[in-house]
Amino acid sequence: MGRCVKGYHCLYSHIPEPSSSNDPKQSSTDTIKSTTQTTRIVGSATVSYEDGAAISVISLPSDFSAVSIANIPRRVSIEELTVFLNERTDFRITPDSIQMKFVPATDLKTAHITMPDPTFANHVLQKIGTVVTMHESTVQISKGQIGGVSAAGSNRVQLASISCSWHQLTRAANVWYGEGHPGVLPALSNHRPRLNGRILDIHLVASTHTHTMYHIDNIDTTTTKWQLMGILPGPPPTMIQWAAASQGSTAKQLEEKVRSMVEQQGTLIDWVMEVDTTDTAKAKAIAKFADPEAARRAITKLNQAQLGNLPTDVLHVSAIVSIKMSISQRIFDIIKQPLRDLSARSWNEYHVGIKVYANSNKKYPQDSDRLYTQIRIFGQEKRFVARVKSSVEEMLAGHIAVDNDGKQITDPFFFKTSGLPFIDDLKRICKVTVVPDNYKTVLRLYGEPFNVEAARRILTEKVAQLATQTHVLLLDHKTFPVALRGGFRHIMSRIGKEKVTMRVTSSIKEIVLIGSENEFDEMQRILQSGLHQSLENQFDTLNIDEGEVLCPVCWTPPEGPSKMTCNHVYCRSCLASQCASATSTDIPLSCLGDSGACNTTLTLSELSRALSRDEYESLLDLSIKDYIKSRPAEFRYCPTPDCSRFYRCSPNAHPRIFDCDACLASTCTLCHQDAHDGQSCEDAAAAALIGEKEFAKWKKDHDVRDCPKCSAAIEKNEGCNHMQCVACGVHICWFCMKTFEDGSETYGHMETAH
Ligand SMILES: [Zn+2]
Ligand SMILES: [Zn+2]
Ligand SMILES: [Zn+2]
Ligand SMILES: [Zn+2]
Ligand SMILES: [Zn+2]
Ligand SMILES: [Zn+2]
Ligand SMILES: [Zn+2]
Repeated sequence: MGRCVKGYHCLYSHIPEPSSSNDPKQSSTDTIKSTTQTTRIVGSATVSYEDGAAISVISLPSDFSAVSIANIPRRVSIEELTVFLNERTDFRITPDSIQMKFVPATDLKTAHITMPDPTFANHVLQKIGTVVTMHESTVQISKGQIGGVSAAGSNRVQLASISCSWHQLTRAANVWYGEGHPGVLPALSNHRPRLNGRILDIHLVASTHTHTMYHIDNIDTTTTKWQLMGILPGPPPTMIQWAAASQGSTAKQLEEKVRSMVEQQGTLIDWVMEVDTTDTAKAKAIAKFADPEAARRAITKLNQAQLGNLPTDVLHVSAIVSIKMSISQRIFDIIKQPLRDLSARSWNEYHVGIKVYANSNKKYPQDSDRLYTQIRIFGQEKRFVARVKSSVEEMLAGHIAVDNDGKQITDPFFFKTSGLPFIDDLKRICKVTVVPDNYKTVLRLYGEPFNVEAARRILTEKVAQLATQTHVLLLDHKTFPVALRGGFRHIMSRIGKEKVTMRVTSSIKEIVLIGSENEFDEMQRILQSGLHQSLENQFDTLNIDEGEVLCPVCWTPPEGPSKMTCNHVYCRSCLASQCASATSTDIPLSCLGDSGACNTTLTLSELSRALSRDEYESLLDLSIKDYIKSRPAEFRYCPTPDCSRFYRCSPNAHPRIFDCDACLASTCTLCHQDAHDGQSCEDAAAAALIGEKEFAKWKKDHDVRDCPKCSAAIEKNEGCNHMQCVACGVHICWFCMKTFEDGSETYGHMETAH
């Protein structure tokens, strides 16, 4: 129960609605109570909330795993594939958990299967293997990717790739020249001729009056003495002698050797040789594994591995981190130039590349809302890639328009077609781009900081102006009775008596509001909700009880009253402050009425009606943060300072690795230290401790001590016993480790005390 086979990003909760007969909440109160659910994306998690702002389900990408199947013959149906998989695995896969696609211009299909179980992919690979035959076709199975969703769009972190580089096999030669060639020879040392794709390295070894000897390195193993002689300037040498050579043979065989070493570390999805045409002495390949653990293992096991007999015959293996991001076309068009600048800067400073893939949506070529551009950020150093990624994300987010109090501008006017001419004028006058984000109801501004600020000020003025506009709501045969039977009173108490008037004549029935678009929307919402019998009843009770009712928080007659289904009435501000100060023990939030005896859970719909948008969102935010913090055995925040991602702790002795999609750090989810593949948590801790012990011994040997004030390591320099800490600047007497504010104080102390 709970999660959806469509993947963690499915926005529906799939939790069965409680039936009316066995819901305990239902029987305790007589009012009709609707259970509500809402979902938010928090970091990379999908969080479902239930009544009282309590957390019902947290779904993380790591709770799922996926399998990709390639080269499936066209005639295999989803049903046939389902049967095929169910016969061979312990999982009960249903056809709707399989996505199948035709591969263009072939007779083949690919399938992607995501299951709400992190062990699924490994299980399938273990039971079926990576290659299997279906209808005489060789089908390939590999681990699939689970995408990440963040506020700035979707991104995919790829931590399973490595870069392998090695020197091609080489041989060296010694070349002798007899007497009689002075003059041409010194030039040879500065000469770097090319031969068979190699740039030769020539050094002068010895020169006497009878002969001169040169040593030549980096010669391709297929080179002949005749070829070598042909490219040397001047008269032919008197003798050429082959020197050290790597054993083994062709470049192809060496590549095969490296590849098989890499394959022993895990399932390979891809192997691409990168050809450097300027110097064929170096070979480079990019290998992509099915999972990040294999990549990390390959780096620890294979980096610096010997490939041949020469000291230079070693393999270099390093990580490649890459992140794919999808950017909506209209935002990409705005940030194109700054992105280009960032790309050049990040390559020069960090060796992090940004590659842009033109990727148009052929189905909707005219609709820029549905067009996405893919970019890939890649590099070898995780922290640099993470830094560039957050720069790109900042660029994408733009500046969210806020008023002078820092509150987000959310007036519905800006999101309706009637507001478009105003937005167009704003763009033209301020030279900014304005993108109304309809999902999050915020306005994103892009442009030079000065222009963005000007646009923000104009928007703020417009909001003030919109707050005093005249809106007329016509009442029909449905809403008019609602307005009469308490609805209008409710509107007056929520929006303010002075702002609304109801006009009723024989021909027109209307409510006139002098106020903002938001208030107009709220007015409509109140009347709409009054159409339901239960809420209509609520208005009536409010009419009758007003005057005798006290707010359960402040014990005075409620101001801007919000009535709950349990019939208790709160001041709007009292309820808001209760929600803002809630901690994990208060959640699920319940009614404080009857001196706390009421205890009825406040539903999400009640809370969202009673609170402002910002208050409601920060309540949900507070609830999840408190939930994570109060459950250290279940969830932890990413250990990187300031990183807001969290992960699920390993439930057993088989730790999983959490690869953070924000800061790209890899953490063991059992001991919460840096990932330690192939080592138990205890062994890893012991190794770290040995490191500390060795450091302690080294410190003793080198008279390195910790600063008494800030604990930074300080190494004693020559002679003087007055030291100053580089980290905190405190002055220290090295005899007794007392600390002082300045140097003269220290000398005073040393003269008197020692
Ligand atoms: Zn109150
Ligand atoms: Zn109550
Ligand atoms: Zn992190
Ligand atoms: Zn561990
Ligand atoms: Zn000194
Ligand atoms: Zn210090
Ligand atoms: Zn001292």
